[in-house]
Amino acid sequence: MVQVPPEIRIRLPQSIVSFNERYAGSVVEGVEQQMRLCIQSAVAHIQSPGCGPFWAMIVERETDRILCGAGNFVVGGKQSWMHGERLAFSLGQTVVNNFVFPYGRYRLVTTAAMCIACYGESLTSGIAEIVAAARGEDVERETPFKEGRLPQDWQGELKRRGILYRPDVLRDESLVPLRQYSTSGGISYFNAGPQT
Ligand SMILES: [Zn+2]
Repeated sequence: MVQVPPEIRIRLPQSIVSFNERYAGSVVEGVEQQMRLCIQSAVAHIQSPGCGPFWAMIVERETDRILCGAGNFVVGGKQSWMHGERLAFSLGQTVVNNFVFPYGRYRLVTTAAMCIACYGESLTSGIAEIVAAARGEDVERETPFKEGRLPQDWQGELKRRGILYRPDVLRDESLVPLRQYSTSGGISYFNAGPQT
């Protein structure tokens, strides 16, 4: 007999718990400083088992106040959706207690441009602005991760939906956690099916 539980509960790794205890509600001025904190958090995050080399934060745009942060926990959480961005969306929406973020208010800061899964969710999350460091091509060059093929005009679609996209913020620095993860033998998995 198949046992399907009545709820899904996932214990988050200490790196995510500690980050939010320390930074949720804090003001970090400017997207570069916010990205620097994300990159530092990704580097710390991969020290824990089952944690991948990506980190994301939700930040209130008007005040630069951090709502929450999270890193990739796909392997440890045994959930294919637990990318840093999607976990940050989930934690943030839990905090604001709604299925979308209030229109115009929140920014996603992410150490790497969204994969196809996170791109899809960014369109429906209510996020108003996305700040990214590494490009998808950087991720695929520095690690075995595959980001999935985004729609041809994915940046245009963000714009049409009123989402401001700001690429390449601290792009060079964002390669550090990717390289460390690769050289440490971290587990990689694929977002887009069999790989060639
Ligand atoms: Zn993703």
